[in-house]
Amino acid sequence: MAREEVRTVCPYCGVGCGIILEVENDRIAKVRGDTAHPANGGRLCTKGSSCDKPLLSDQRLHQALIRPQRGEKAVPVAMQQAIKDTAARLRTILNTHGPDAIAFYVSGQMSLEAQYLINKLAKGFVRSQHIESNSRLCMAAAGTGYKLSLGADAPPGSYEDFDCTDLFFVIGANMADCHPILFLRLMDRKRAGARAC
Ligand code: SF4
Repeated sequence: MAREEVRTVCPYCGVGCGIILEVENDRIAKVRGDTAHPANGGRLCTKGSSCDKPLLSDQRLHQALIRPQRGEKAVPVAMQQAIKDTAARLRTILNTHGPDAIAFYVSGQMSLEAQYLINKLAKGFVRSQHIESNSRLCMAAAGTGYKLSLGADAPPGSYEDFDCTDLFFVIGANMADCHPILFLRLMDRKRAGARAC
């Protein structure tokens, strides 16, 4: 069978590096950085370059499971049935206990469109006030640093700023460990004469 190439995005940190998966017989045969992607230009850190490992694990679920009752053994069901049952159970919780009985914990790795949809679902449809994401936890130290030093916390305007700034000011973040590819871009710029503090 021919190898198919799938362009995707690294599932780990917020740098959002572009990845190309080489897929053969429905299995990932190779992972490589996407040289055309503006975030990483083909580079990947260890996490990105091994992102196929969890996908290939035998411990992953291969089909939907559902517990008929709490405490019972989970049994396989068709995906459509699992979605229907989950929706019915959520509806029962909503009707019985009100919207704040339902909380959403989502991912900062979702696309903007997906973020919009889940917020619309939580706040506009379910009307729960409880929605949280890993973004707040993983950015807590850096966000506090930005607020204390600069008075505001915001994401960078554009990664292209990396290529033209003369000064990097990093606070509350260990870029080498947490955002390795951006750190490499910082080091590239430093070698070209920029300062970092
Ligand atoms: S820096 Fe590493 S973990 Fe983060 S998105 Fe890029 S490859 Fe993935």
